Amino acid sequence: MAELEKVVIVGGGVGGCAVALALRSAGVQVEIHEKYGDFQGRATGFSIWAYAIRRLLSLGFERQRLQRVGREIVRQDIYSEAGELMMSLPVGEVSATVGAPTMDVDRRGLQEEIVDILGGAVYRFGSEVVAVRQDNDSAKAQLADGSAASGDLVIACDGIRSIVRDSFNDPPEFKMSSSDVVEGIAEFTHPWLAEGHHAQVWGRGRRAGIGLVGEGRVRWFLGGIVKPGEPEIDQAELVRRSHGLPDIVASVVAATEPAQIVRARIAHAYPVEHWRDRRVVLLGDAAHTLSPFAGMGACSAIEDAAQLVEQLTSDKPLDLALDTYVEQRKTKTLEIEKRGRRNERMMMARNPLVTTIRDWVLQRTPDKKLREIATEMATGE
Ligand SMILES: Cc1cc2nc3c(=O)[nH]c(=O)nc-3n(C[C@H](O)[C@H](O)[C@H](O)COP(=O)(O)OP(=O)(O)OC[C@H]3O[C@@H](n4cnc5c(N)ncnc54)[C@H](O)[C@@H]3O)c2cc1C
Repeated sequence: MAELEKVVIVGGGVGGCAVALALRSAGVQVEIHEKYGDFQGRATGFSIWAYAIRRLLSLGFERQRLQRVGREIVRQDIYSEAGELMMSLPVGEVSATVGAPTMDVDRRGLQEEIVDILGGAVYRFGSEVVAVRQDNDSAKAQLADGSAASGDLVIACDGIRSIVRDSFNDPPEFKMSSSDVVEGIAEFTHPWLAEGHHAQVWGRGRRAGIGLVGEGRVRWFLGGIVKPGEPEIDQAELVRRSHGLPDIVASVVAATEPAQIVRARIAHAYPVEHWRDRRVVLLGDAAHTLSPFAGMGACSAIEDAAQLVEQLTSDKPLDLALDTYVEQRKTKTLEIEKRGRRNERMMMARNPLVTTIRDWVLQRTPDKKLREIATEMATGE
């Protein structure tokens, strides 16, 4: 194993939490520096595919915690704008072959559980990193309060606006999506959301997804109804703009506490050129801000964490271990970003002829193909 006693992690999102978990299980001391003072008040969720859940389990996230952070997806059902079931992916069946469930997860719940495993002292809230410095033997994160945190390695998990990435890369060429996404978590039930069912609606230039996260709550997202740069749009207007889609969409928006509705500007980019500067390495969105239409950003951050620590605990010297991680993950995440861009064209198509053909094809997809699609997602292959 590369000689590592202590590692400093910049950013406490899913990537920072996962790599801390992985290093801890390898016996390395870690410290996470998170700029915000607490977990943000508004909750959102994401789908975590089986391969990434299996990674979390192997990194020491106990199985009994899964039920506290989300619910298993057994089938992902895709409905048309008119409310017809177009296809249903057998996610549970293929996830079982991976050895872990695919799940809709409450993002904040996941972070809280990981911090509980790590112990509160490891996760430093309100600790903003303003720069990184290094010499031959160590690297250090310079903090906004004037102090510094030193270790053998700094792992930058500071997300899409990473200052660490930008200190040794040209700024990424972000592709901005043509609409903002609104999302939230709400107490909600609907006949389409029987246990194990995640429902998506693919309309004309509009797309929504809703999945159970436990205790009568769902996480949802909705794209295509808010233009970037539009001034604040209230809940009633969001509900109004959901009309014409199946009623589940307007109903879930209406069921959400207005203050809990989150609007996000969506930007993504191909993986950056340099993931590493000697003892500083990038992970998660800092390295690859993936298109949300691939639905793999958080899963990829977890996979990065597992593969980085696999390399660091191999018998390779530090330089080779880091280079191998970068090479493997850069290739993979480039493929994912390309797929996300292709997906966006299909999922957000507006032209009525194109959506009619798309829906016709989706409705006739053979079971074998549905299993193949679900397998690709659940295995991350
Ligand atoms: C609408 C939407 C839906 C999505 N759905 C899915 C999905 O279904 N499945 C999936 O796998 N992915 C999904 N994603 C992608 C996923 O959310 C991200 O890829 C993932 O959160 C990236 O994790 P991260 O830890 O790299 O970055 P982040 O989650 O952004 O975390 C970065 C952290 O670093 C902190 N930070 C930033 N700068 C500093 C600093 N200078 N000092 C200290 N701390 C700092 C931030 O406060 C933050 O806590 C979705 C994304 C969006 C926008």
